[in-house]
Amino acid sequence: MSELRATILVVEDEPEIRRFLRSALGADGYRVVEAESGARGIVDAGTHKPDLAIVDLGLPDMDGTEVIRRIRAWSPMPIIVLSARAREQAKIEALDAGADDYVTKPFGVGELLARLRVALRHAARTATGGSPVICFGKVEVNLERREVTREGRDIHLTPIEFRLLACLAQHLGLVVTHRQLMREVWGPSYVEHTHYLRIYMKQLREKLEDDPVCPQHLLTESGVGYRLVADEGVPSRAS
Ligand code: CA
Repeated sequence: MSELRATILVVEDEPEIRRFLRSALGADGYRVVEAESGARGIVDAGTHKPDLAIVDLGLPDMDGTEVIRRIRAWSPMPIIVLSARAREQAKIEALDAGADDYVTKPFGVGELLARLRVALRHAARTATGGSPVICFGKVEVNLERREVTREGRDIHLTPIEFRLLACLAQHLGLVVTHRQLMREVWGPSYVEHTHYLRIYMKQLREKLEDDPVCPQHLLTESGVGYRLVADEGVPSRAS
């Protein structure tokens, strides 16, 4: 899949935002399909076979979270939420429904395009089986051999620390919710015990970040989850 030819489905009822996205995405070489309602978006997702969808949450006929759930039932394509809802709960619901990332309005076009590239790359990697080696900062993670090195030196991680890092690495550049992490690392019965996450993230940062107090890679998405970013510096409001 070439990023340049990728087709982006925009599910958005506000004409000004659609116009803005059409011109911004078009200028970057993407083909844009526009849907002004949730029902239309679900149909277009099937007929136009887009490579990625950008979905607004406040739609006239149904909630965008429902659109995401319906598309996700059959399609693995990346979905980015674009919404004015800044509440953490809205983000969490959309991400748990299957969205891959979240951009809050008002948004910078640079940030949106960067997130879009990350999501498309992630999808391409997943489709080809992916590389078992993920690098960020001075750290190299070999997911297959379960080895982590920092500046070439072996770093010992506990099994939980490794699973947590692997889960974030598999979604490199994308936000992963507390719930997703708890489910994948500890198991479904632990999803409410998110305080574990804080403890283990702190340990991971101490082992892998230059300055664990001011992390550059293992980022907090306040109230929502965590994001592992490589070096290209995808803009993020993470603290
Ligand atoms: Ca709207």
